[in-house]
Amino acid sequence: MNDSSSPAAAAAGADADDAAVRIVSLYQKQKKIYARAVSGWFAGWRWALVWITQLVFYGLPWLEWNARQAVLFDLEARRFYIFGLVLYPQDFIFLTGLLIISAYALFLFTTVAGRLWCGYACPQTVYTEIFMWVEKRFEGDRAQRMKLDAAPWGMQKLMRKGGKQAAWIALGLWTGFTFVGYFTPIHTLALKVLSLGLGPWETFWTLFYGFATYGNAGYMREQVCKYMCPYARFQSAMFDPDTLIITYDAARGEARGQNSKRNKKDGLKPAGVGDCIDCGLCVQVCPTGIDIRNGLQYECIGCAACIDVCDGVMDKMNYPRGLVRYDTERGMAEHSPRATLWKRVMRPRVLGYTAVLGLICTALLVALLLRSPFKVDVVRDRGTLGRVVDDGWVENVYRLQIMNATENSQTYLVTAEGLSGLLLDRREPLTLAPAEARWIAVAARVPPEVATNAGSGAHPLRFLVTLQTPEGTAAHRVVEKATFLVPR
Ligand code: SF4
Ligand code: SF4
Repeated sequence: MNDSSSPAAAAAGADADDAAVRIVSLYQKQKKIYARAVSGWFAGWRWALVWITQLVFYGLPWLEWNARQAVLFDLEARRFYIFGLVLYPQDFIFLTGLLIISAYALFLFTTVAGRLWCGYACPQTVYTEIFMWVEKRFEGDRAQRMKLDAAPWGMQKLMRKGGKQAAWIALGLWTGFTFVGYFTPIHTLALKVLSLGLGPWETFWTLFYGFATYGNAGYMREQVCKYMCPYARFQSAMFDPDTLIITYDAARGEARGQNSKRNKKDGLKPAGVGDCIDCGLCVQVCPTGIDIRNGLQYECIGCAACIDVCDGVMDKMNYPRGLVRYDTERGMAEHSPRATLWKRVMRPRVLGYTAVLGLICTALLVALLLRSPFKVDVVRDRGTLGRVVDDGWVENVYRLQIMNATENSQTYLVTAEGLSGLLLDRREPLTLAPAEARWIAVAARVPPEVATNAGSGAHPLRFLVTLQTPEGTAAHRVVEKATFLVPR
């Protein structure tokens, strides 16, 4: 009699379980994925996004605006130009706002439609798509690439592989060059490249970014999505039963299999046979090498290549499209009609994200519109603390940085208040060129009796920097606090 509840039997069972544990090396060699090219509705959308994102990325640095580069992050001058906007490091809050908006938009889109970003617009997807297109031009589609890899080295293999490598390297370097062109004026950068006069940082970042593009899109590909991207790990927290996912309709597809009695002409098949003909094309086109028929997997980047290819198979078999499709977990379980899916899009979670996103966007827009046209920083001159000068007057010296945050020249008048009889040595207006930032030294003095009455120590002082219109009236004023030191 076999008593499974006895300790001996339990131990034997545990041993059997242990033996069943599969040891997987963390450094296991990855099997190369030969993704098959696919065409269709979603592939069309993916290519449209490749064109849009890359036209923007490669084209933007060459665009001129007011006789300068339209988008330039000039780190050396600490000034960022985005078309008509001139931003200084003090405007970092806008970048923070932009990052928060991006994060919320990602939450919103993921909740509604899963990994839309990954499948269509993520740089890893976009560059992999481009690099795979180049690969196909030189080495052919899936079967030809597999054959070429298995073939011994010869002139033809050398030419094909060499051509692909040369095109990949050129693409990577052009991408690195464009990236650096957002930080160094791209026309100057191009001249430096042509005259072999690139500086060390420009050389480093061009090569680094170029190599990262080459490595990630040419070789790492799906491994970046599977092992390196944190979004793949936490995106499931944003999914709910009404999130659109790419899914295989097992109820319709099973029992799968090639069946000689299937009739392609009228779409008829024997009883008990599902619509999946087990052609394996959905696995062959998958860039991450998974089988969507095994259910939702974290490796799925939502590229919809399996939908396109399976729809093609369904068309050939005269079966309705959509065996692999966008659907929701609830929709699949309840066999809901498509119209119900759209109704469920507007659920509380989505409305919440939309409301927060709308609020942050409005706040950022209002802050941008109300942004001061210039900025002022006041720093006490460390070399000169409060000191007694001619006739017993007490003097403090400050350094003011005035930053013109517009594309027009501006004229300012600097005044100060806080102590009676306070005088500044600078009384004439100051004019700054468009987007210019300038440091000026300003000495503030108070009469001896005021200093005596105020007593030794620090006293509050306010600098008023007033933007003047061409007619000399005040257009905008910035007030900066400082302290006035009276020595003992
Ligand atoms: S492409 Fe469609 S029919 Fe072919 S194996 Fe995949 S799910 Fe089945
Ligand atoms: S399972 Fe389909 S949608 Fe997911 S990554 Fe593979 S091909 Fe793309």
